[in-house]
Amino acid sequence: MEDIEHFAKAMKLIDADGRRLDGRKFNELRPIRIEAGVLRRADGSAYMEWGGNKVLAAVYGPREAHPRHLQDPARALVQCRYNMAPFSVTDRKRPGPDRRSVEISKVISEAFSSVVFAEQFPRTSVDIFIEVLQADAGTRCAGLTAASVALADAGVPMRDLVASCASGKIDGVVCLDLNKDEDNFGDADCPTAVVPRTGEIVLLQMDGHLTSDEFEKAMDLSIDAARRIYDLQRDALRRRYSVTLEDILKESPPVPSPMQPEGRLPSEDDFGPEGI
Ligand code: ADP
Repeated sequence: MEDIEHFAKAMKLIDADGRRLDGRKFNELRPIRIEAGVLRRADGSAYMEWGGNKVLAAVYGPREAHPRHLQDPARALVQCRYNMAPFSVTDRKRPGPDRRSVEISKVISEAFSSVVFAEQFPRTSVDIFIEVLQADAGTRCAGLTAASVALADAGVPMRDLVASCASGKIDGVVCLDLNKDEDNFGDADCPTAVVPRTGEIVLLQMDGHLTSDEFEKAMDLSIDAARRIYDLQRDALRRRYSVTLEDILKESPPVPSPMQPEGRLPSEDDFGPEGI
């Protein structure tokens, strides 16, 4: 244990030029890719790569809530199950729910409960499934961001998308979007989820310690990043639903060719006696 603590203290996470171990500046995000509508069976879905994280989100509903005693006569339940695949981390993770995944599922459900128009769908549930295929810190933010796109893909009425990002402190510097080494050996991590249009915070957690100044800096970084992530979410939905001229041509029946089936041009004999 002392060895690990000594190693963590000796490890430099930011170099003299202010660059982090992966070359990023303090306010840079890891590369992000979002695809909407990647699963056939779910009502809505999304796949997301965020740095070393790979996450799938699937949504069903609103559908009749089961078991029935859970039904709320006034509104829909918004339920989330966050799960990490056994192969998502370096050492095999024990399959099934654990304290951490139950906590993450709960905070994500609560975040979405405040944006979904749940009162329009009494006695139903909106079920969100988040599967982490590969983890590299920030999986709850990636899961929440992907789930938000999956909810929109499912057509669930919401006030807005939710975009999520974490900021933390490494080597005493407040930085955006910590990766696994920074999360392990850094001083603090603060995941946040925002409704970008209103600036409302729907998830806020903290692991470690930040002074109030550092906390404000971290929030500024996360909220600014959430706006950039919001653009990527909308772009993923636009790519899924925008129709190009090529798509229209693919869908429409083929234009009859003046060539005859044998490949010859029509002759006078092919027309009636009136020449029509
Ligand atoms: P988040 O993934 O939202 O940052 P944590 O801070 O709890 O959540 O976890 C940080 C990282 O630690 C995860 O992304 C993952 O890479 C790793 N991790 C979490 N749980 C386990 C586990 N049971 N086994 C191995 N690595 C884990």
